[in-house]
Amino acid sequence: MYFFEPKRCQECNKIMYASAAQAQREVKETYWKRGVTLFVYQCKWCGKWHLTKHDPHEYRRRNEMLFGKKGKGKKKSRAGRI
Ligand SMILES: [Zn+2]
Repeated sequence: MYFFEPKRCQECNKIMYASAAQAQREVKETYWKRGVTLFVYQCKWCGKWHLTKHDPHEYRRRNEMLFGKKGKGKKKSRAGRI
């Protein structure tokens, strides 16, 4: 069987999907095959679509924790607003 060779993003090395719909289809297939839920997001570097295992909201929150949002850190006890 012939499989097309997926293109990968030079920045994050993930497989690039030309459209969100294409990526979404892969999400479904992966779920059927492996029972793994993936999320689609648009890459800020290549502008294409990638899949991630992380919930984008979680992912973003983690990024904020990692890279920090200096200035108004102290009063934010609950993550009420995003
Ligand atoms: Zn990318």
